[in-house]
Amino acid sequence: MSTKATVEKLVSLCKRRGFVFQSSEIYGGIGGFWDYGPLGVELKNNIKQAWWKAVVQERDDVVGQDAAIVMNPTVWRASGHLDTFADPMVDCKECKKRFRADELAGAVPASAHGHEAEAAKVTRCPECGGELTEPRMFNLMFRTYVGPVEDDASTAYLRPETAQGIFVNFANILTTTRKKLPLGIAQIGKAFRNEITPGNFIFRDREFEQMEIEYFVKPGTDEQWHQHWVEERYNWYLGLGMRKENVRVRQLDSEELAHYAKDTYEIEYLFPMGWSELEGIANRTDFDLRRHAEFSGRELEYFDEESGEHIVPYVIEPSAGVDRLLMAFLMDAYDEEEVRGETRVILRLHKDLAPIKVAVLPLSRNEKLVPPAREVWATVRKQWMSQYDDAQSIGRRYRRQDEVGTPLCVTIDFDTLEDKAVTIRERDSMEQVRVPIAGLVDALRERL
Ligand SMILES: [Zn+2]
Repeated sequence: MSTKATVEKLVSLCKRRGFVFQSSEIYGGIGGFWDYGPLGVELKNNIKQAWWKAVVQERDDVVGQDAAIVMNPTVWRASGHLDTFADPMVDCKECKKRFRADELAGAVPASAHGHEAEAAKVTRCPECGGELTEPRMFNLMFRTYVGPVEDDASTAYLRPETAQGIFVNFANILTTTRKKLPLGIAQIGKAFRNEITPGNFIFRDREFEQMEIEYFVKPGTDEQWHQHWVEERYNWYLGLGMRKENVRVRQLDSEELAHYAKDTYEIEYLFPMGWSELEGIANRTDFDLRRHAEFSGRELEYFDEESGEHIVPYVIEPSAGVDRLLMAFLMDAYDEEEVRGETRVILRLHKDLAPIKVAVLPLSRNEKLVPPAREVWATVRKQWMSQYDDAQSIGRRYRRQDEVGTPLCVTIDFDTLEDKAVTIRERDSMEQVRVPIAGLVDALRERL
């Protein structure tokens, strides 16, 4: 992260400038749910577009899909989520606070592994010292009912990950695209987890968005493709301007691996709360396809023309969380610098991510400046997400744009009326250059 960024500053900026709001704030909010405002939705869309471009558009071996959030509940039996997607929960008998037993650190020796082993070690409430209940396993899936009757037969779940929507479509996509292995299927979508303790702003939410790829390969080539994806994904973050010292790749210990994984790497970011996962890249082997074949009674295989054999592909899964990526990109871009005795807050966002690419600013609200300024804006907004701002001094308007990461400002002044030219001002260097209005779009495109 930037040395100048703190979670408090980021939360405040996000609220003040319309990136992120607490969900249903006028009713006191609801824990673990967040809303994205006008700038937040642009930034989020830009992150998703950059990802889609890199993993679908620019590759010849990955296709996209968009599966429904509510699926046949047998999916979650096959995937293991109904049986194992649970955290140990304890309650304080005194103050009634609820904790994840495996997160009550401090009293837990570093060598302890496994939820139950850790949970057994902590018996006192960290808040009040009161006695804790025995840990109970709590399934993290949100439950709902499909149709008018609320009974066991109509119980369904909000998906806790987008991945399963890909596995159940594997045969459909293989048949309709006529593609050969290796074949990736990518998807962006909402997922829901009823976390016992959501927190750290938008880092751990109960409703969040995932960007996942299931990359199907021939068994035996899985380790090599795993390395490929770890490198690809790590470089994607650096390519979007994330500082190298703040991003790392970590291979998980065997005790940390999920039940389906042969090997997993995490791409982690240095948040104020420490190194935390942005993206997991797991080798899920043939676990999911075999389970779905077993539970559905369908053949989920691939016919390998080379060997003349039917095989069950292995899967490499790069899985990233959009909301926590957005938080990391903001953290990383946040900067403060002294300019003429004042503190300039600036988001040094990569131009592809910046919510607003160009701000159009008439020097003042003088009636002679308004028509040419409006005309310039009409041209610019056809090309890029842009903003028109004529409130307060030009200096303050530059600062406002710096604070939300706008790479370029275009200023219309009284000389414009004579020379039919405007000034382009660059965010990071604050350099200004005069260009004719006739060549403005080209000049902006060159810089964007
Ligand atoms: Zn307590």
